[in-house]
Amino acid sequence: MGRFIEGCDRRQQRFLPDCVDDYVAQDSPVRVVDVFVDELNMAALGFADAAATGRPGYHPATLLKLYIYGYLNQVQSSRRLEREAGRNVEVMWLTGKLAPDFKTVADFRREHGAAIQAACRRFVMVCRNLGLIAGGTVAVDGSRMRAVNARDRNFTPVTIRRRMEQVDASIERYLGMLDTADRQEGEAADLRTARLTTRLDELRRQMRELETMEQAVAASPDRQISLTDPDARAMASAGTGTGQVGYNLQAAVDTGSHITVAHEIINLSHDRTSLASMGRQAREATGSGTLTVLADRGYFSGPEVLACEAAGIVPILPKPLTSGAKADGRFGKQDFVYQAGSDTYRCPAGETMTKRFASLEHGMTLHGYATPACRSRCTVKASCTASIERRIKRWEHEEVIDAMQARLDRMPNAMRIRRRTVEHVFGTLKDWMGRSHFKTRRLKNVGTEIGLHILAYNIKRAIALVGVPGLIAAMQA
Ligand code: SF4
Repeated sequence: MGRFIEGCDRRQQRFLPDCVDDYVAQDSPVRVVDVFVDELNMAALGFADAAATGRPGYHPATLLKLYIYGYLNQVQSSRRLEREAGRNVEVMWLTGKLAPDFKTVADFRREHGAAIQAACRRFVMVCRNLGLIAGGTVAVDGSRMRAVNARDRNFTPVTIRRRMEQVDASIERYLGMLDTADRQEGEAADLRTARLTTRLDELRRQMRELETMEQAVAASPDRQISLTDPDARAMASAGTGTGQVGYNLQAAVDTGSHITVAHEIINLSHDRTSLASMGRQAREATGSGTLTVLADRGYFSGPEVLACEAAGIVPILPKPLTSGAKADGRFGKQDFVYQAGSDTYRCPAGETMTKRFASLEHGMTLHGYATPACRSRCTVKASCTASIERRIKRWEHEEVIDAMQARLDRMPNAMRIRRRTVEHVFGTLKDWMGRSHFKTRRLKNVGTEIGLHILAYNIKRAIALVGVPGLIAAMQA
């Protein structure tokens, strides 16, 4: 044998260090978890106090430490946490060798959703006190996360119609095969007929179930039913066949430290109604007087931008490019210049378009602008409109959109900063979750899970910024 590093003899006495503390490195994140939870005022955050009677239960601090450790180390299931508590030296160190059973662990997460979210917010406060969160600018984005609900167990009018067409086509095919089998004789033909009849009965049963489901979906408030997790919703995706049933995680991430300062889980498949809400939460978490919020065009909504402005939040996001005229090769709205002084538009032919009418669309008052020149003397009309005249609509609060566009023009790298800030968070969280889905069902419970994920992410981020000793010292100060 050559020279190799040799291990110890497993039968020798004192094979392992005397003290369990010796197993845990001084810069191990588990020490941060320990100090963070010990410094929390558990009762004020809403964790249950000890029962006055009966057998004593586990202290909520023990179970919270166990969960935070689990989410830091990609162990999110209660059964796996139970196993880790019995074999993982860091967990033994953390919990004082307590090993609660998986049901106790799962019940704690289910019953303490609000308190766990409060602990997550408390860690953001720790980062703020440490000076990690500059607070001037956050990037907001949403990401679809898979629910425990399979796609086959989610029903919308479109999916039901598609499945009915598939079942119809199968029934037609089997009826044709049955006709063929009926024209043949012999034992094999009889067997085939019996098999086809059974299959046809099964398909007709499926069709009846789909018809019943169609009525239930039509009667549901948002025309959608998920059987396994009733709160999960179909999340559209740009790629064909890549849609999933799940939730939409909204996150606001500080552009300086990349700490996630606010998050929210919703079951809408779009981001259009989340900008102001995320901005307010982020401003409260960062304590900023004025907060700049960077978002992508999926968040664009006039009323949301207006609500941000009213709340002292400065949104910067691009407008969606939805001009049908531009797509058809004609002048788009951006080719018409608004003249604020006279409240008119100057069209590409240099004519002045004046305010003519008002209309109400989706609760927004829009003013229409037009010019008689379209009907009489325009030489470029073919490049402008296929109608008698071109009309430009302007929202009554369009000035907030114009101001936002001006801010975006002054900050050309805004979307690059947004992308590199927030997409890393989603990438990391999805990497931690792996190919898996949420472990729990219902919006409230999924919110607790994501709160633990965000807390774990923020702890890792803060450790990367100031190190374990620095973070511990700051929490104990
Ligand atoms: S069609 Fe009307 S709005 Fe369009 S360029 Fe001509 S005059 Fe202007």
